[in-house]
Amino acid sequence: MVNGVYDYLIIGQGVAGSVLAMTLHEQGKSVCIVDSPKPNTSSRVAAGIMNPVTGKRMTLTWEADTFFPTAKSFYKRMESMADRRFLFEHPIVRIFSSIGEQNDWSGKWTDEKYKNFITTGALDSPMFEGVSAPYGSMAVTGGGRVDTNAFLDFVRLYFESLGQFAESEIELEDIQPSSQGISWQNVSAANVVYCVGANAMHWGYLPFTPMKGEVLEVTSKKLDQDHIFVGGCFLCPTQQGSFYAGATYDWRNTNLEKTEKARVEILDKVSKFTSSPLQIKEHRVGIRPAVKDRRPLLGRHPSKNNQYLFSGLGSKGVSMAPSLAMQLYSHIEHGTALHAEVDIKRFDS
Ligand SMILES: Cc1cc2nc3c(=O)[nH]c(=O)nc-3n(C[C@H](O)[C@H](O)[C@H](O)COP(=O)(O)OP(=O)(O)OC[C@H]3O[C@@H](n4cnc5c(N)ncnc54)[C@H](O)[C@@H]3O)c2cc1C
Repeated sequence: MVNGVYDYLIIGQGVAGSVLAMTLHEQGKSVCIVDSPKPNTSSRVAAGIMNPVTGKRMTLTWEADTFFPTAKSFYKRMESMADRRFLFEHPIVRIFSSIGEQNDWSGKWTDEKYKNFITTGALDSPMFEGVSAPYGSMAVTGGGRVDTNAFLDFVRLYFESLGQFAESEIELEDIQPSSQGISWQNVSAANVVYCVGANAMHWGYLPFTPMKGEVLEVTSKKLDQDHIFVGGCFLCPTQQGSFYAGATYDWRNTNLEKTEKARVEILDKVSKFTSSPLQIKEHRVGIRPAVKDRRPLLGRHPSKNNQYLFSGLGSKGVSMAPSLAMQLYSHIEHGTALHAEVDIKRFDS
């Protein structure tokens, strides 16, 4: 049971809630977190990859020059606090699927905008154990993988040790206006931030397009453990000696059913660049909090004072959350404008 007066009540402790809570804490704000933990939340099943160059056309991801350095510095600060590692800066090897893709890359990699993330053009077949790349590959730096489960466990324990964490499923009607701002049970706060992922709650008027994703955890005796491989899907080492393979994207179904179709699709895509036998250890499913225009959702509720949203992280929450949490903090505390592309005002009618 938590009680007391806080600057912030945060509802939801996925990547969004955890990163925001630690950002506010670093800024000297008092925070109480309430979460209803489930094993299959998006943040718990995420592979945790931060990849600055993505997609079939190998484009630099949105705001990469800001998001990636900020994310790296944030997770490193968290590592210092926790005295354990969360961020693994594995180079990402993009495996070309055709000679056309290789040519495409050879023609564009010297573009200035890639300079913080790319050091070479197309490489001949990589010499990584268990991996084949007949059309060559290219290497992306400046990204890596965050162990989201370890990070979330740390944030929960940290706030629990302060007596500022509670497990509960909050209903909308439980949040009441108060002289301090809002109240929930014995907690009062100046502001509440909903970090509830794909659970729309107050925010059902926004164009959420929840996206189901399935990922496999596999083991292999033969695969390179120091690189993330991407080629139609990813194969990413975990710190337990296994690999994440995935992921699928399904806009039509938002159930948490594990499907044979996804299992076959992932194994088929991985088999294009590795013939190493893979044993499936686990099959996980989650729902990404995606948005119609593929941009996050941040800002104050149009009619509810002191009530804010931090969601819409889609498939890139790990790299985007640290910069966005800082933006939201500056917006609430100092009135700084949110980036127009993330501000929920873009959907005001
Ligand atoms: C298969 C898969 C693979 C992925 N891989 C990657 C990847 O490699 N890299 C990457 O960056 N992203 C990846 N993602 C996306 C990533 O998981 C999300 O961007 C991010 O984790 C979303 O975090 P969130 O905190 O907004 O939502 P969530 O993780 O959904 O967290 C929301 C939290 O709020 C709680 N909650 C909800 N409603 C209430 C309530 N009423 N009361 C109390 N608590 C509540 C939930 O229980 C949960 O704990 C992947 C997602 C999937 C499904």
